[in-house]
Amino acid sequence: MRYKSTRSDRQAIPASQAILEGIAPDGGLFVPESIPPLPCSPEELAAMDYRQTALAIMQPYLTDFTKEELEACIEGAYDAKFDTEEIVPLAKVEDAYYLELFHGPTIAFKDMALSILPHLMTAAMKKSGTGKETVILTATSGDTGKAALEGFAGVPGTRIIVFYPKDGVSAIQRQQMVTQQGDNTWVVGVDGNFDDCQSGVKANFADRELGQKMEGAGLSFSSANSINIGRLVPQIVYYVYAYARLLREGEIEKGEAVNIVVPTGNFGNILAAYYASRMGLPVHRLLCASNENKVLYDFFATGAYDRRRPFILTDSPSMDILVSSNLERLIYELTGCDPDQTSLFMQELGRDGNYRIDDAMRKKLEIFRGGFASQQESRQEIERVFQDCGYVMDTHTAVASAVYRAYRLETGDRTKTLIASTASPYKFAPSILQAIEPGWEREKDGMEELAWAFACTEELSRLSGTEIPEAVRKLKTAPVRHKLFCETGEMRQTVEEILKL
Ligand SMILES: *Cc1c(COP(=O)(O)O)cnc(C)c1O
Repeated sequence: MRYKSTRSDRQAIPASQAILEGIAPDGGLFVPESIPPLPCSPEELAAMDYRQTALAIMQPYLTDFTKEELEACIEGAYDAKFDTEEIVPLAKVEDAYYLELFHGPTIAFKDMALSILPHLMTAAMKKSGTGKETVILTATSGDTGKAALEGFAGVPGTRIIVFYPKDGVSAIQRQQMVTQQGDNTWVVGVDGNFDDCQSGVKANFADRELGQKMEGAGLSFSSANSINIGRLVPQIVYYVYAYARLLREGEIEKGEAVNIVVPTGNFGNILAAYYASRMGLPVHRLLCASNENKVLYDFFATGAYDRRRPFILTDSPSMDILVSSNLERLIYELTGCDPDQTSLFMQELGRDGNYRIDDAMRKKLEIFRGGFASQQESRQEIERVFQDCGYVMDTHTAVASAVYRAYRLETGDRTKTLIASTASPYKFAPSILQAIEPGWEREKDGMEELAWAFACTEELSRLSGTEIPEAVRKLKTAPVRHKLFCETGEMRQTVEEILKL
């Protein structure tokens, strides 16, 4: 299996190289030359545990890794860092199955891919034999940053620099990042929003002069953002695993199709579900759930992608995104894998802030449905499900859950449904409490954001009868290690200073 860029027909490269480069030199994203079929039947998959499923699904994508190498990566990633043997438990609540992707070290779904990416990268570095050190440059809307820091901290031959929007992450998310340990880690608050961080990082990748300076210092950039194929591939695994679990437990019958609802930001998680369906997993609909930054909803409804609109800060910050990078990979598929046409769309997006696909392309989107939920609707969903079933979900998952309810009402579609549950509610405890116990807000009374967030986790634990995760408890006493800030225009300079170029 080889990987080529969405934007040019230059020679295809092996997976290990695509993982190291992160993004193609022409600014495009790496895509597999073809999407492989499922390696065995869903019935056979149903007998596998998470690690075995990961091997079976990842092998046909990462063919230049040996089986032993892949096994070592998988063993190193999906181990006791996860607080449950199942790795991704499935909670049946009302008539839906919540696929809990937040049982890793940073309690968000980013751990699913970022706990394995460093292992894949170090294996790839050994293969490349260039002896260069890899510098991971990452923009985060809150969860990626911490998961990447946690994954790469202390990994020999790597350094990691994370840029986050200074006022665009939750107090717990910020504290998780600024207390990160490891001499190879740097965390920088940017005076801007997530899109500013992401375009700053992309500009650094594309900067030739900076690239030459890096080369001279024996360094090369790579990305831990969801544009890296080394993140996308591990994300396919849990959809297949969840389907096989439903089959094993007799919740669905052989060959029965399911719907999958994904709370979406950068379009990485749902793209992985799409790849799973293309591999042959029986999927009826993929519901792409957006918050009030509903660019994707509009895209699925009209065929026009238009980023020219106000950026809205919501209580599902990891979905506050107007440029969903991974959509480029879908666009590429819709053009019939035409790099020139894909480039044109991306140029239009860069230049004019919008583009429109034609009807022939829209036809190929049959499997997708877009939906969105306002902040109020998702809070009501949190409240309703907690009152009715005692199940507490986070603010991102709530967007998906609300979109699912509305879709069922509207269409009468009774297909069994998996809802990707992307973060622990403890990560966003203040927002959860506003939903389930509105009067609680009075307790705040001049308390600082972080102290308030901790108080909320305790109250949430009391109300829900669930334990505060270790990942949150240990933050209370962890010292702040990162105090760097920069303006949006200073990201390159900041990188040069950190790397002493
Ligand atoms: C990153 C993230 C999302 C969005 O996922 P994408 O792959 O960017 O679409 C949703 N929820 C949470 C909690 C996240 O961290």
